[in-house]
Amino acid sequence: MTTFQAPRAGERMLPVEEAQRRVLDEVRLVGTEQLAFTEALGRVLREDVRAAEDIPQGDNTAMDGYAVRSEDIAAAPVTLRVIEDLPAGTVATKRVERGTAIRIMTGALIPEGADVVAHVEITDGGSAQVRVLSSLKRGTNIRARGEDMRAGDIVLEAGTPIHAAEVGVLASVQKSIVKVARRPSIAIISTGDEIVDVDEPRPFGKVVNSNSYSLAALARETGALPRMIGIVRDTREATMAAIESALESDFIISSGGVSVGAYDFVKDALDALGAETKFWQVAMKPGKPVVLSRLRDRLYFGLPGNPVSCMVSFILFIAPSIRKAMGQRSNLLPPTVAAKLTANVKSRGDRRSYLRVRVVARNGELLADPMTAQGSGVSTSMVQANGLAIVEQGVTAVTSGTVVDTVLFAPVFSES
Ligand code: AMP
Ligand code: MG
Repeated sequence: MTTFQAPRAGERMLPVEEAQRRVLDEVRLVGTEQLAFTEALGRVLREDVRAAEDIPQGDNTAMDGYAVRSEDIAAAPVTLRVIEDLPAGTVATKRVERGTAIRIMTGALIPEGADVVAHVEITDGGSAQVRVLSSLKRGTNIRARGEDMRAGDIVLEAGTPIHAAEVGVLASVQKSIVKVARRPSIAIISTGDEIVDVDEPRPFGKVVNSNSYSLAALARETGALPRMIGIVRDTREATMAAIESALESDFIISSGGVSVGAYDFVKDALDALGAETKFWQVAMKPGKPVVLSRLRDRLYFGLPGNPVSCMVSFILFIAPSIRKAMGQRSNLLPPTVAAKLTANVKSRGDRRSYLRVRVVARNGELLADPMTAQGSGVSTSMVQANGLAIVEQGVTAVTSGTVVDTVLFAPVFSES
């Protein structure tokens, strides 16, 4: 019983960028559904959204104060007669004529005749008459009609991920029902004879399944719906059966069983099921054995079993695929920033390393603190880390102070 497979002729470790390109080339769009805009947070919009009218509907005041004629206050201080009081949301019934003012609250439409708002701070705040103490240029404190949105403009494009600002814009244009991508489903399989589940007794020497849960959480964070298939024993038959039971999902992920050990059955099982394997080794550490296969129209990602390798492969390959499947058109890959290492780091040099670092902003600089334990089994190193500092293939040491490309997978904060 051996599944040892030396790389076939022509097979090589793919550079990460090429692997990412190949993965994204294989991704297909998922279908859509209609949702209340209040439920659409975290989804990707699948229709263009237009403004039906100008917003704001007319010129309006940015300040509480008095709508006046700039001519009238040119020789300030001057006293003007207040002819009307205009709370926000009301429309003036009078026109501002020479020598008069209309008291106006932020957001109210500018009355005819006025071309400037004297904010209350430069007046005596009077109600029957007002003394304006300084002159202002025409247009001061006036927000233009349509400055936010113009009637007919596309204000949100199909492919836009919906965050808080997008929800606000949907509300403004009264788009109460929106067409969004349905959540892609992701089946998650954990392989390994040594793996027991969270609520099971753990005999000495066994390992608790953490990958299924961290992967499911990553899937949710990215907008997908995880489906737990559970733990699969290290046999070809069990692996095949698990994969077959997962085929309703848009994506299938497994952890473990993709190396060249005697009990690594994922590639065998995929071959036996007639999958078309696109690649199975990427020139990166952690995470060299990463299988990409297409099986009956589904995409299959076989990730290595080590918890850090699993998460890193998800961040680099699977999260971008989910975004693309939902219809996102740009920013599919995680962002990369330049950050300055705060300690010396080492790498084997045989492939590109992604070192876990904590990126912090200090004095206008991004600093990358490497985690002390960089083993791919050290799951706690992912807790403090928010970035993966890249050490290129062929490089074995990088000294403190060097600026390196760093992939971010969580927010960066200022050091406090
Ligand atoms: P493998 O890639 O199957 O050789 O697994 C490599 C290592 O990853 C194993 O020694 C396990 O300790 C660990 N591992 C595999 N699957 C899981 C899992 N589901 N949860 C946590 N650790 C795992
Ligand atoms: Mg295994």
